[in-house]
Amino acid sequence: MLVVARYHEIALKRGARSRFAAQLIDNIRRVTPDCAVGRIADQHGRIVITLRDESTWPTVRQRLARVFGIANFSAARSLPIPPGEERELAPLGRAILEEIRGRRFDSFRILTKRADKRFPIESPDVNAAIGAVVKQATGARVDLDGGELTVTIEILPREFLYSVEKLPGPGGLPVGASGRVVVLLSGGIDSPVAAARMMRRGCRVTFVHFHRAPYLDRSSQEKARELVRRLAPYQGETRLVLVPLGDAQREVVTRVAPAPRVILYRRMMVRIAAEIADRFGAEALVTGDSLGQVASQTMRNLAVVEQASRLPIFRPLIGLDKLEVMREAEALGTFDVSIEPDQDCCSLFVPRHPTTRARISAIEAAESLLDVPALMASALARSTIERHKFPAPSPEPVVEQLQI
Ligand code: ATP
Ligand code: MG
Repeated sequence: MLVVARYHEIALKRGARSRFAAQLIDNIRRVTPDCAVGRIADQHGRIVITLRDESTWPTVRQRLARVFGIANFSAARSLPIPPGEERELAPLGRAILEEIRGRRFDSFRILTKRADKRFPIESPDVNAAIGAVVKQATGARVDLDGGELTVTIEILPREFLYSVEKLPGPGGLPVGASGRVVVLLSGGIDSPVAAARMMRRGCRVTFVHFHRAPYLDRSSQEKARELVRRLAPYQGETRLVLVPLGDAQREVVTRVAPAPRVILYRRMMVRIAAEIADRFGAEALVTGDSLGQVASQTMRNLAVVEQASRLPIFRPLIGLDKLEVMREAEALGTFDVSIEPDQDCCSLFVPRHPTTRARISAIEAAESLLDVPALMASALARSTIERHKFPAPSPEPVVEQLQI
C-alpha cells in the first residue's frame, strides 16, 4: 500500500523545493520508525510513502496528521502504466472499481492530476472516461463540486496513483526548514500555542522552562514535561531544558523593590535562554506574549525585556486575544494540561501593582544591584536537559546535565 502526502506551500518555492521536500521526507521518517515504512520519495511534487504492512495505516494516519508541511494525504494504490503507445484506461477503471467496491455513495467525482504532461490523454478526458465506468457500475451520479466520494488519480511517468479519501494535513512548512528556535515554555496556555505556530513555520523547537524548585514544588516542571510530550508528535524527539531560577529570584526579592521585579525576571530569562540557544544552534527566542494581556506585556515592558536579549524575540501570538489562543490550544491538545494549577515561578512575589511602563534606566539601575552574570552562570550550571522521544518507548525522558 502507498500513502500520498501532498504539499502546497513548498511547491510555490521553486529554488528551495527539493530541500524542503527532503526535510519533509526526513520528518515523516522520524515519526514513523515503528510503522514498517519502506521507500519515501518526492515524485513530481508529492511525497509517495510505501507501507510494507497495511495494518500500520491507522497509526501512520494519526502521525501524518501532525507533520507540518503536509497539506493533505491519502492511502493510495499504484498501477503501472505499460510502456509504448498503448495508453488505455481500462485497467485503471477496473482497479478503481475494485477499490470502491462495497462503498455506498449516491454522487461522486473523479479528480485527475497529470503530473507527467507527456501522458497523451488530458485530465478532463481521464475524468470523463473513468467517471463513465464508475457511473455504469454503481448507478451513482457525477457531482463535480465534490459529491460523497472523490477519486483522485495522479498520473506519474510510469504509474497511476489512485486514492479515494483525502485527509487534511496541518499545512505550513516542514519543521527544520526554517532553522531552530528556543521557546520559553511557562506552564500556561499561551506558550505551547506560540511553539506550535513556530513549528508550523518550519522551526525546530527546543523548550526552556524556568522553575523555582526546591523553593516551590515540582508541579510546574511536571506541566512543562507533559506539554512537551503533547507537542513532540509535531516534530519528533524534543528537548526540554529545565532551569532553576529560584536563587536568582531570591536575590531580586532581597535587593529590588516590588514593582519592576517581573521585568527583571523576564530579562534574566531571555539572557539565559540566549545562552541555551547558542548551545543548540537556535537563532531566535519565542514567547507566548500577547499585547496588553497582563501588566508585563505592555508595549513598553516588552521593549525593555527585549533590550536584554542578544537574539531576536518572536511573539507569534502578539495580535491574538485570549479566546483565540484558547481555541488553538484546544485544537492542539495542550489546553487541559495548561489549565491545571501549578506553582508558577513568576506568580510568587508578584506585587499588586506591577510596572506597566518600565524605564530602561530604572531597570538597569535595579540590575546593577545584582551580580547578573554570576546568577546566570549558577542557574545554567544546575540546569538539566530532558530528551523526550517520539514515538516514545517509555514516558520517561532521557535526562542529562546541561553543558554550556
Ligand atoms: P503563558 O500562558 O504562556 O504562561 P501568560 O499569559 O501567563 O503566558 P506571562 O506569564 O506574562 O504570560 O508570560 C509571558 C511569556 O513569558 C510566556 O508566554 C512564556 O513564553 C514566558 N514565560 C513566563 N514564565 C515562564 C517560565 N516559568 N518559564 C519559561 N518561560 C516563561
Ligand atoms: Mg504564565
